Amino acid sequence: MPVALVTGARRGIGREVALRLARSGFDVAVNDVVADADGEAVVAEIVAMGRRAVLVPADISRLDKHAVLLDRIEEELGPLACLVNNAGVSALVRGDLLEVGEASFDRCLDVNLKGTFFLTQAVARRLVRQPGGGHRSIVNISSISAEVVSISRGEYCIAKAGLAMLTKLFALRLAEEGIGVYEVRPGIIRTPMTEPSAERLGRLIEDGYTPIRRWGEPMDVAEAVVTLAEGRLPFTVGQVITVDGGLTFRTL
Ligand code: NAD
Repeated sequence: MPVALVTGARRGIGREVALRLARSGFDVAVNDVVADADGEAVVAEIVAMGRRAVLVPADISRLDKHAVLLDRIEEELGPLACLVNNAGVSALVRGDLLEVGEASFDRCLDVNLKGTFFLTQAVARRLVRQPGGGHRSIVNISSISAEVVSISRGEYCIAKAGLAMLTKLFALRLAEEGIGVYEVRPGIIRTPMTEPSAERLGRLIEDGYTPIRRWGEPMDVAEAVVTLAEGRLPFTVGQVITVDGGLTFRTL
């Protein structure tokens, strides 16, 4: 069975992606920086489906931990066929761009971009060394913030814009190796990350901010990821699949 690693998978979008991949036949390494009962519950749900799963706690911004993480997954589940770079953090504090502090900037860039870059590189090296049979892929969960300007969390937008370029770079490098690299770009999705702004976002949605007038759900993102991970868009590479209910349409 193909093996997938999903980062930040104990809750929210990552959790749904891990479960959806398992339903479509992947064995799954469930990563998160927080090792708690939520992560164990995701593993238990996957095992209950008859698939293999392992909880592999690690902070993806710790580059020195990547090799140990990947070795452990290989030992327990076998070589990876799919990496889903989902782990991400928002700004520590929302506020004026003129007040953004170094701690929040570094945290956003370290997790959302630098950690993701080097984990992708480490996985890509292994994929290139071990040509596999089925479709192999790297799917990056970015955000409409790669494109939409939110002045109250500039550091998040910068990191996600960088992730969009990261996707294109690896897509180009790995296309000749038969490895598909893609970006999935969610809009407003109902998860613990959006919980603090749920009231404001809910009002925006009700007022027609998104042409599809409802919250996005983690399953909406998971469906896009699985489509790509299964290789169901075989002549597509480096593309952005936007899952935002039409939020980023330009209208007149
Ligand atoms: P979430 O906060 O609910 O879940 C993120 C998970 O990632 C958490 O379990 C967290 O512990 C984990 N994580 C954080 N830092 C980590 C690290 N250094 N190493 C490993 N795991 C780490 O968030 P979510 O809404 O499910 O978001 C998932 C991804 O989707 C993020 O990259 C986020 O930027 C992106 N996204 C979310 C939305 C949305 O509306 N919820 C919109 C666009 C993009």
